[in-house]
Amino acid sequence: MESPILQGKVKSVYDVPGEADKVSIVFHDKVTAWNGRAVEYPPEKGKICCLISAVIFQMLEKNGIKTHFLGTKGFDTMLCRKLTIVPVEVIVRNIAAGSIVKTTHLTEGTLIQPAIVEYFLKDDAKDDPLLTPDRVALMGINPEPMRDAALKINNHFQILFAQLGIDLVDFKLEFGHDSGQNLLLADELSPDSMRLWKEGTSESYDKDLFRKDKGDIVEAYNQILDKLNNLP
Ligand code: 5GP
Repeated sequence: MESPILQGKVKSVYDVPGEADKVSIVFHDKVTAWNGRAVEYPPEKGKICCLISAVIFQMLEKNGIKTHFLGTKGFDTMLCRKLTIVPVEVIVRNIAAGSIVKTTHLTEGTLIQPAIVEYFLKDDAKDDPLLTPDRVALMGINPEPMRDAALKINNHFQILFAQLGIDLVDFKLEFGHDSGQNLLLADELSPDSMRLWKEGTSESYDKDLFRKDKGDIVEAYNQILDKLNNLP
């Protein structure tokens, strides 16, 4: 295969020959945490994250959310619209966990109602620091359309995960602009970038299993994929 136009920590992005406005995103059997300081290569993981992402992107598209998703090629590759990625990670929180617990006096498990939206700089070299909306604007990026889309997406996710018996704790989104300057949802939608707890508990079905060395992520992610595939 040709060399990627973009090499992420667990995914690679390739041009699509003859289709300047499309890319292929290949999901690898790899998981990282703590900004790449912990790494493992769990077999099947790429395929499972790709398939979970595909199901969730399709659900959002059906509900009128504009995304980069066009389809899948094989089991580990998504065909997507080519975007210029906004260098801001958008986080939605419904329950306190992770960095909000470390950096505030909120305790893990505290309900966050209404949900909040946060912005982090997408820059590994700077360890992805928390941004204020004013700082995002100062970078020349209007946070409002991303905030509106993130809250709409949260509503759709709440309905979806409730059907799976899962509490949606938080998740990260990335956005990008196509050549017509339309804002589209980008990246992946998988348990690598969400916290998913078994309903009414704090039992994780997400990357925290790897971060905290508490279990097999492939087994947990597979359970999420099975639940998605068995939706009525
Ligand atoms: P936190 O800010 O608590 O570390 O993360 C909030 C949510 O966003 C979690 O679901 C976490 O998995 C996700 N998240 C935050 N930063 C990243 C990132 O750089 N990569 C991925 N895959 N997910 C992230």
